[in-house]
Amino acid sequence: MTERNIYLDHNATTPLHPEVVKSLTEAMIAFGNPSSMHGFGRIAHALVEEAREKVASLIGALPEEIIFVGSGSEGNNTVLSIMGCPSMSCSCERKHRSHIITSVIEHPCILETTHCMEGHGSQATYLGVDRYGKISLDELRDSITDQTGVVSIMMANNEIGTIQDIRAAAEIAHEKGVSFHTDAVQAFGKIPIDVHDLGIDFLTMSAHKIYGPKGIGALYVKRGIPFCPLIHGGHQERGRRAGTENTLGIVGLGKAVEMRALEMDDEVTRITALRNALKQGIEDRIPDISFNGHPTDSITTTLNVSFAGAEGESTLLYLDLEGIAVSTGSACASGSLDPSHVLMATGVPVEQAHGSIRMSLGRENTMEDIDYVLEKLPVIINKIREMSTVYGRK
Ligand SMILES: *Cc1c(COP(=O)(O)O)cnc(C)c1O
Repeated sequence: MTERNIYLDHNATTPLHPEVVKSLTEAMIAFGNPSSMHGFGRIAHALVEEAREKVASLIGALPEEIIFVGSGSEGNNTVLSIMGCPSMSCSCERKHRSHIITSVIEHPCILETTHCMEGHGSQATYLGVDRYGKISLDELRDSITDQTGVVSIMMANNEIGTIQDIRAAAEIAHEKGVSFHTDAVQAFGKIPIDVHDLGIDFLTMSAHKIYGPKGIGALYVKRGIPFCPLIHGGHQERGRRAGTENTLGIVGLGKAVEMRALEMDDEVTRITALRNALKQGIEDRIPDISFNGHPTDSITTTLNVSFAGAEGESTLLYLDLEGIAVSTGSACASGSLDPSHVLMATGVPVEQAHGSIRMSLGRENTMEDIDYVLEKLPVIINKIREMSTVYGRK
């Protein structure tokens, strides 16, 4: 590591909030099984339920509507599997509808699950997006059939930040009697969410994107919706997700959510200013660039930019040498050399998609960080472009 270490990859994961570290240290000794009736169990049980209340209150839900799950990925897999797969054996005898509607820009844990369901007899519709990454509500309305079991549309995109009109999408699903799920992993704790106001039936969130621990998330399931577990076993989580509770993870999640409630508003203002400075600075200093995502309906932590003639991977590695951590799209997709499925879906040409990096800001970033990036980035892009066999030689 270099002397400067600037982390601009908060959409991949975030460092633990210091208050979360403190809460974890304190909870570490509460080893009891929350299902046990003795004192050790009751202490752990109380910690779990306290966290459940915190998660519920941030989205206007009831505590019993929150199910703790092992990750955002598990929450998403659970909803799609139980709502969209005809071959899932389910004790609640739901009359299975086997058509899933989602979008082309979802996280891999939605897209891969849907592909898997298709392999098991489900049908799927993948809604396209416009150049800003927004789905078409008309296309959604036209896609719903009497076989549709669930509509699943992400609230905010992890690569370009675009926020969908979730209220309108949920309303369209409900008009046709279809349940609505949203992957809110990137939106939760960054924009205000009220599940009743938005008309959401299922919502997924994950702790490690909001300064909580990895390997823990939560699923909101609206009261009254029949729900059968994906993970069978004991009757933890009111029989909706078996397995001894991850008490420590749950405590950390609860504290992370509590801190979001306290800090979100001020932080959004501060980070928006940082992102605007970064965006303006790039625009002023580097020619032949374009920004990806929606100009206004976007989580303000995310800046996705394409540099003509500079491969995203090269830019990432040169920035890393200067102690600046960014990504080329999503962490789950990096390692593959395919251009981002999200950028391709917005109609960005392949070369432009290859020249893109994502910078995602967080609570510990400062204006000095932005100044440093704006000092290093133009030099790096210039260097890569000078080595390019194609840039400037058309
Ligand atoms: C990170 C992420 C997930 C997956 O959450 P995990 O807890 O890492 O499994 C799902 N959806 C989106 C939009 C994400 O950014």
